[in-house]
Amino acid sequence: MNNFLLEISDLHRHYPVSTGPFSLSKATVKALSGVTLYVRKGETLGLVGESGCGKSTLARLVTGLESPDRGTVRFSGKEIPLWDRSELSKKIQMVFQDPYSSLNPRQKVHNVISEGMRIHKMGSTSEIRKRVEELLEQVGLRPEHAERYPHEFSGGQRQRIAVARAIALNPDLVICDEPVSALDVSVQAQVLNLLKTIQAEFELSYLFISHDLAIVSHVSDRVAVMYLGRIMESSASQSLYSNPLHPYTRTLLDAIPVPDPEYEYHSSPLTGDTPSPISPPEGCPFHPRCPHAMKICSETFPHWKEMEPEHFVSCHLY
Ligand code: ADP
Repeated sequence: MNNFLLEISDLHRHYPVSTGPFSLSKATVKALSGVTLYVRKGETLGLVGESGCGKSTLARLVTGLESPDRGTVRFSGKEIPLWDRSELSKKIQMVFQDPYSSLNPRQKVHNVISEGMRIHKMGSTSEIRKRVEELLEQVGLRPEHAERYPHEFSGGQRQRIAVARAIALNPDLVICDEPVSALDVSVQAQVLNLLKTIQAEFELSYLFISHDLAIVSHVSDRVAVMYLGRIMESSASQSLYSNPLHPYTRTLLDAIPVPDPEYEYHSSPLTGDTPSPISPPEGCPFHPRCPHAMKICSETFPHWKEMEPEHFVSCHLY
C-alpha cells in the first residue's frame, strides 16, 4: 500500500483573460498544463520554479479554493470535491509569504491563532486560551504574547504566529508558500528550523513552495522542479543536487553560489525572459532557452521518464 497523503494527477488549470483594456478578444493563461505529483505522510516535497510558473495556482487547487479544468487532487485517498469543506479546512493549512499582510492587524494574537479552533468549536473558552498559550510556546514565543497585536512583532516572530495558527487545528498537510522569502536572511534559518521541529512533533507533511532552490533542497526530502505550468524533474533532494538531469534544473543549481573556486558549474546562466504562459512555446516550454534544444523539443512535450528509482525527468535528452 502506498502512503501518499496527497496525490495530484494530470492537473490542468487555464484562465481566460482579455488581451487588452479595449480588446474584446480573449486569450488563455495556461497556469498548469498536466502536473502530476505526490506527497507522502510525514515528508516535505519542495516545489521550486520561477515566479509565474504556477506554484500558487497549484496550492489553490490543493486547498479546494479553486477547481481544476482537468485532472484530480486526492487527499488521504479521497478526491478534494468529495471532502466536507469544513473537515478539509482542518486538515490542510497554509503559511503564506508575507507575515505583514497575512495576519489581521486588528485582532490580538490570541484571536488570530484561535480563530479556527473557535469556528470548529474545539473546546471551551478557557481550554482554547490554554491551547493558544501552549502553541505560542511551541513556536518559541511567550504565553503573554497572546494579548499583543501583530504589529508589535518582528517579521520572524509574525511568521512564528502564522505557524502557530496553521498547526492549531492539528492539520496533516501544511502548504508553505514562500514562507521565508519576505524575511531577512538571518531570520530565515530560524523559521526553517522551527518548521522542521514542528514537523517532527506534529507528524506533518509539507508542500514547500519557493523560487529558491537552495532553500528548497535544504528543507525538502524530495523536490519537484516546475517550469511554465509543467513539472520538468522530480527526485530525492540529494539525487537532484548531485545528479541534476534537466537542463533547467542545472541552470537553477548553478545560480546558487558555491564558495569554492575549484567548483565546476554545469551550465551557463539562463538567458532571455521566461516565455509568457499566455502562449507558451509548443513542445517543451523550456526549449527557447535550452542550450541543448533539438528539433523535437519544439514539436512534442517529452514523456515523463524514471531514470533512477524515484528520479523522474521530462526531457528529450533522455
Ligand atoms: P507562481 O505562484 O509560480 O508565481 P501563479 O500560480 O501565481 O505562479 O501564476 C501562474 C500564471 O497564472 C501567471 O501567469 C499568473 O499571472 C496566472 N494567473 C494566476 N491566477 C490567475 C487568475 N485568477 N486569472 C488569470 N491569470 C492568473
